[in-house]
Amino acid sequence: MPFYFYNTFNKKLEEFKSLEENKVTIYSCGPTVYNVAHIGNFRSYIFSDVLRRSLLLADYQVEHVMNLTDIDDKTIKGACEKSENPCIEDLRSYTKPFIDAFFEDNKILGIDLVEHYPRATETIEPMVNLMNLLSEKGFAYKKEGSIYFSIEKFKNYGRLSGIDLNSVKTGLRYDTDEYDKDDIRDFVIWKGEEKTEKISWETPLCKGRPGWHLECSAMIRNIFGKTIDIHTGGVDLIFPHHENEIAQSEAAYGEKFVNYWIHCEHLLVDGKKMAKSAGNFYTLRDLLEKGYNADAIRYLLLSVHYRQKFNFTLDALKQATQTVHKIYNFYNRLTDVKTSNDEKSKNETIKPSAIEYEKYKNDFLDALKDDLNVSKALAVFHDAMRAANQILDEKNDALSSNEKETLLDLFDYFDKLLNILKNSRKITAGDTSAEMNDLLDKRNEARKNKNFAEADRLRDLICEKGYKILDSPEGSKLQKMN
Ligand code: AMP
Ligand code: ZN
Repeated sequence: MPFYFYNTFNKKLEEFKSLEENKVTIYSCGPTVYNVAHIGNFRSYIFSDVLRRSLLLADYQVEHVMNLTDIDDKTIKGACEKSENPCIEDLRSYTKPFIDAFFEDNKILGIDLVEHYPRATETIEPMVNLMNLLSEKGFAYKKEGSIYFSIEKFKNYGRLSGIDLNSVKTGLRYDTDEYDKDDIRDFVIWKGEEKTEKISWETPLCKGRPGWHLECSAMIRNIFGKTIDIHTGGVDLIFPHHENEIAQSEAAYGEKFVNYWIHCEHLLVDGKKMAKSAGNFYTLRDLLEKGYNADAIRYLLLSVHYRQKFNFTLDALKQATQTVHKIYNFYNRLTDVKTSNDEKSKNETIKPSAIEYEKYKNDFLDALKDDLNVSKALAVFHDAMRAANQILDEKNDALSSNEKETLLDLFDYFDKLLNILKNSRKITAGDTSAEMNDLLDKRNEARKNKNFAEADRLRDLICEKGYKILDSPEGSKLQKMN
């Protein structure tokens, strides 16, 4: 079965055909690094992680890019608040802690690293080349010191978002990076020096700084050099950001920009989009400090289909925590199973009637191929977990090595998408933060190296933080103390 995705460009479900056999190129709009991302942002990054992991499960080779927007109205404003006369280095120092936090949070949430993370400040030359090309081809013009894109020159303008082109305000322009859907005007390609709050680059056409939309168009061309398979982002980016990316790229290069546009719906709080500006947001750190488990946050954010709006509540997170603990317990039980190695049991295989593991794998992947139907995939996973628990009950937690290996192989397959089971060993009850897991790893490492003084010091530190270590021959676990 091939993959099917809902393509925003054609507003329908379409069979996915990659440009090159077995290879997929993806570009995902990443964070604007002027603050710590909230879990609404992470819903959209977890969606692109699910997309990537699903394609990898189906044996595609994936080349995936996520940009870091370090030049825009908000990052420049932030740098100007810190320093009276900021230079480019000041802008980089301002964004660095947010970039570091982004990578840390990705790691804690089990999001796979992608192949490229280009930054706007490192892609100036490709952006200038694109602007020059647009000017040579007559799509760009200069007005009041800035360079703008003339949307009336691009005949397909509005195809992606389906905006009403009758409301276009000809002769009017926008200098800001973001604006409203019912206010369509020419957008800025390069913002002139007078409007840029001090940070600027000299170019043949204009001194100033790139517009946000130009950044993504130029990065895609710079890395891939041709049409790409998939472009993702949150639905809020369809207009104007993605509409403008298409206009610039197709006007300049005269070929199709992207084959499949896939957009993720918003995470809501009380029915409203979770957003920094609305003040209704949680960061990952907020939730970890309250004692929530990062895997439960990952599980909750990935469990709702990407095209559905999703209202976030702490109650839903508590429920996800219980589910994740159930998963940990099951996986611990499976990895703890005793195996017999006598000749008879060595050759014993799992009977298809007991657990049809190949079918579970196929059903799991087929669900993902069906426009990333995660609910269906999770139902397959939970079914398999029930069946495996039943086998363990029947066999009193003793399996042949063959049976154990087959089951472990099945659940490791599921975990290539979920990326949760591998953490089971570290946690029993209660919620454990990444910091605690890290301390436990270090303490175990010290014990392994017979550095008992250091192991004791780390054990005391873990106790001070309210956790008990339970050591057993199979490994050690943390338990929260009340
Ligand atoms: P920003 O840093 O605001 O440019 O957003 C980075 C990414 O997060 C974009 O793909 C947005 O569409 C996405 N995003 C922002 N807010 C939400 C939300 N509440 N739910 C889901 N995605 C979001
Ligand atoms: Zn973008």
